[in-house]
Amino acid sequence: MRWLDGVAVANAIRAELKPAADAFRAAAARPPGLGIVLVGENPASEIYVRGKLKSAAEAGLAAELVRLDASASLGDLLRVVERLNESEAHDGILVQSPLPGAMGRDADRRVFDLVRPDKDVDGFHPVNVGRLVQNRASLVACTPSGVIELLERSAIPIAGARAVVIGRSDIVGKPMALLLLHRNATVTICHSKTPDLARVAAEADILVAAIGRPGFVTPAFVKPGATVVDVGITSLTDRAQVERMFGAGSKRLETFDRRGSVTVGDVHPSVADVAGALTPVPGGVGPLTIAMLLKNTLIAANERAREAGRTGR
Ligand code: NAD
Repeated sequence: MRWLDGVAVANAIRAELKPAADAFRAAAARPPGLGIVLVGENPASEIYVRGKLKSAAEAGLAAELVRLDASASLGDLLRVVERLNESEAHDGILVQSPLPGAMGRDADRRVFDLVRPDKDVDGFHPVNVGRLVQNRASLVACTPSGVIELLERSAIPIAGARAVVIGRSDIVGKPMALLLLHRNATVTICHSKTPDLARVAAEADILVAAIGRPGFVTPAFVKPGATVVDVGITSLTDRAQVERMFGAGSKRLETFDRRGSVTVGDVHPSVADVAGALTPVPGGVGPLTIAMLLKNTLIAANERAREAGRTGR
C-alpha cells in the first residue's frame, strides 16, 4: 500500500506559485491580493484562516484578514464583500464557513452569490459552477481540484477508471465528480440515500470519501488495490471512539491522551490492508486545499490583469 503524501504535493505546488507570484508583482507593481473574511470566533475556522494567511504570505501573496464580530448582521457581511468586490488590490475573496447561525439559513448562499465571479477563489459562485459543468472553468472549488492534483502528480490514472464519490455537497462531492468526469473517468455519485453503498463503492478504482463520518469506509467498501482518497475531517473527542477505531496501544490513542482530541477521516484505518494507495488524515487532502486557494488567487489575479489590459482600464 502506498501513502499519497498531500504535504509533499502541496509543497511542490506552492514552490511553483512563488515565482509566478513574483512575476505578477513585477508586472503589476503590486502582489496578488486575497481578502479573507472571518465572522465570529469558531476555533476550527481560526486555525484554518491562520494556515491560509501564513501560506499566502510564504507564496508572496498579500492576504488581508477582515474580521467581523460574531454579532455582525448579514447586511454587515454583505457590505464587506461589496467593498472587496470593488477593491483593485484584492484579486480573490474568501468568506470562511461556517457563518454564525443567527445570520440565517440562506446566509452562505447569499454571500457566495454576491462575490464577483472573477474573484471567486472558492469556486462557489453559480457562474463558476456552471462553467465547471461545461468543462471551461478557471476557478474551481479548492478541495476537489486539490484531489485531482494529488492523483495526477502521484501518477494515478484517471481516464478510463471507475470512480465513486461518496458525498454530494456543492463544495466537495459534486465538483469532485465533475472533475473526474472531465478527465474521462466513469463516475458514480453516492449519498445518504444510496442503497447497498458498500457494493457500489467496491466497484471503484478511485474511491473518494467526502462524508464527514469517522471511519465510515471500511474494507468492505474497497476493491483490493483501489486508490482511496479520504476528504473527511472530524475532530474526535471521545476516547472510547478513538480506541475502537485505532486500537488500544495505537499511536493515535497516545496522541489523544496527550491532546484530548485527534483529527480523523472518513476512511477506517483497516482500509490500508486492502487499498493500493490511500491519503492519510491529517496530511492528505487538507494541505492541498490551501495550496489550491493560493493557486486560484494567482489565476484570478492574472485573469483580472489580462482583462484590464484588454479593456484598457
Ligand atoms: P456535507 O455535510 O455538506 O456533505 C456530506 C455528504 O455526505 C452529503 O452529500 C451526504 O449525502 C453524504 N452522506 C452523509 N451521510 C452519509 C451516509 N451515511 N452514507 C452516504 N453518504 C452520506 O459535507 P462536505 O462539506 O462535503 O464535507 C465532507 C467532509 O469533508 C467533512 O468531514 C468536511 O469536514 C470535510 N472537508 C474537508 C476538506 C479538506 O480540506 N480536506 C474541505 C472541505 C470539507
